[in-house]
Amino acid sequence: MTESNRLRIAIQKSGRLSTESQQLLKSCGVKFSINEQRLIAHADNMPIDLLRVRDDDIPGLVMDGVVDMGIIGENVLEEEQIERQTLNKPADCLKLRQLDFGSCRLSLAVPTEFSYADASSLEGLRIATSYPNLLRRFMQQKGITYRDCMLKGSVEVAPRAGLADGICDLVSTGATLEANGLYETEVIYRSMACIIQSTQTQSPTKQALIDKILSRVNGVIRARESKYILLHAPTETLDQIVALLPGAENPTVLPLNDDTNRVAIHAVSTEDLFWDTMEQLTALGASSILVMPIEKMMG
Ligand code: AMP
Repeated sequence: MTESNRLRIAIQKSGRLSTESQQLLKSCGVKFSINEQRLIAHADNMPIDLLRVRDDDIPGLVMDGVVDMGIIGENVLEEEQIERQTLNKPADCLKLRQLDFGSCRLSLAVPTEFSYADASSLEGLRIATSYPNLLRRFMQQKGITYRDCMLKGSVEVAPRAGLADGICDLVSTGATLEANGLYETEVIYRSMACIIQSTQTQSPTKQALIDKILSRVNGVIRARESKYILLHAPTETLDQIVALLPGAENPTVLPLNDDTNRVAIHAVSTEDLFWDTMEQLTALGASSILVMPIEKMMG
């Protein structure tokens, strides 16, 4: 394999993380278009290649230094890390930051008729999972012995099919569990998407590009978590109004033309402004309240 001068980033080809991973990179100014038939997408404006692969291949590609960066669920990353540590394969990578999408939880679940007190209710029983390493770590910490039933998919049908007594699977809304006559008993791992870097990236030019991408990711996520708020406030309730704006400690206060009793407030708030706060602001005499999304943030 030849060392490429272009930064290689692995993202999920299709699935829960693929759209948001692409969107994040586009928001960071990486211009590319995806051809569904092709594994690689070359960025037009930066020396970056996107590798579109299965999500469970991403940690290994980064840990082996085949790609420089990856966007992956923490659950998949940690499962692969434990697997590789067991097999004495390279298992290191740098987690650059957690992202703001891909939230899910890995949970134990049992059939509705199963009487579950705590994880020890599963002592000696068979548990179906696609995450044998995370499950083993959890059960070892609790000192519980159990039997594995390793399934890559359709984990939730295992108890009804008589293959297992319970399952350990990813849950998002819980609808799949309910549809299969199961209930969630314990969350064993909470996960978000994260961005990782290979420990084998040597080139200073590539490192500078990674730092640039990371700084932009930080800016994009900060902007997504923030809102720009504009409103008119009576001077007499100004302090109370500012105190109500979440995370906006130093707002800009501007005079209004021909109105000495009111001022305009411009503020960046680190949280969304909820309807009940807007109603409290109105009760304090605030008017013309605008809450706007922020596209980019830096500095
Ligand atoms: P839900 O019915 O919304 O609880 O989703 C559960 C189903 O979606 C199960 O089949 C899970 O294996 C799958 N699932 C949930 N979250 C994820 C995820 N982050 N990545 C992959 N599969 C997931």
